[in-house]
Amino acid sequence: MLILGTWREHEIKISVRERERSLTVSTTWEGHLLTAAYEGGGRPRTFITQGTVYRRALDGRMLAKWRPRGQLRQRRWLSQDEALQIEARGRALLQAVYTDIQQGRLQANGELPPLGHTLFQRALAWNEAKSRADAARYRAIYLPIGILPPDQYSAIVLQATLGCSFNTCTFCTFYRDRPFRIKPPDEFRQHAEAVKDFLGEGIYLRQGIFLGDANALVVPMKRLVPLMEIVSQVYPDAWGGIYAFLDGFSGEKKTPEDYARLAALGLKRVYIGMESGHAPLLHFLHKPGAPEDVLHTVQAMKAGGVAVGVIVLIGAGGHFYAPGHVADTITLLNAMPLDENDIIYFSELVVTDDMPYARDAAAANLHPLSHAECAAQEAAIRAGLRFKTRKPRISRYDIREFVY
Ligand code: SF4
Repeated sequence: MLILGTWREHEIKISVRERERSLTVSTTWEGHLLTAAYEGGGRPRTFITQGTVYRRALDGRMLAKWRPRGQLRQRRWLSQDEALQIEARGRALLQAVYTDIQQGRLQANGELPPLGHTLFQRALAWNEAKSRADAARYRAIYLPIGILPPDQYSAIVLQATLGCSFNTCTFCTFYRDRPFRIKPPDEFRQHAEAVKDFLGEGIYLRQGIFLGDANALVVPMKRLVPLMEIVSQVYPDAWGGIYAFLDGFSGEKKTPEDYARLAALGLKRVYIGMESGHAPLLHFLHKPGAPEDVLHTVQAMKAGGVAVGVIVLIGAGGHFYAPGHVADTITLLNAMPLDENDIIYFSELVVTDDMPYARDAAAANLHPLSHAECAAQEAAIRAGLRFKTRKPRISRYDIREFVY
């Protein structure tokens, strides 16, 4: 339900979404437009003001994103004090609006429904101590979640495995300090139940289950099937299906029949860190597996009725590897049986000083691609793509945007 009205001489919008059990209030506050959005249990989610979007992660941190005129998008993780101040500002707005609603001082096109009152009250019951306790509870349930594909930012993450079974890729630091481990069924069930309890009413804003961490699908079938069954037992409504990464290509290979069985258990799409179709570049990146392994894996998944999300690393290997990267990536993608259920992601390489990639690139005297050259590389790959049936979705993937 959307309530439009006038509040203290300014326009106000109050959105109460029944299915998602979410509350959003948008109006002028302290001289600026402020939008404040909350989950059903009162947990703050997003604030927007003065051209900056503040997105609260479940661990209590907050990512601020803004785009100065004519420049690329900027981002900064706020300090905890800064994040709590933003939350407090949203609460002050909510308190003022709700007091006026109760006292009949809001002129609007409709009444706040009973659910709206509940959502206001829950959001107002949130405070600094609750925010800190919620973040601590999150950290007791999860190890830090390194990354998700962009279309999975709203998924419920369940860490069936921890870490990455390879951990060799020089451009990836997500799981360096985390030995790979498959959770036994009892531990996983406990985790899945704890996540459900932690999300509370916020679960209605979530879509799909994402099996973490980096390559949950590397788990052998006889251990994976019981974990998938636990997912459907703890989340019987399925919440939009199950998703996971598969990265690096060694160990037990799954057959189309295996994927058909996993599809029957709810698996919808698997995200594959292909990075490149150029074998020398994969070797330089210390990425396990060869381009043909990726192709065979995609063929097996598609034959089993599971969609894929293929991730290509733009800018990897700088100018030296660029021609081979473009040509062989086009060839590999064109050999895949991709269709409208699939996604191709282009993810621009982000290099930080602590990455082995930075050291290897310097030793090899590689010249990095500028952002504009990365955009040109992506355009060159896109221009070479040919699809047999309907096109997959093609999209950007910026790892710096990720917030869970
Ligand atoms: S296989 Fe994936 S998660 Fe593991 S180190 Fe490589 S890029 Fe990172």
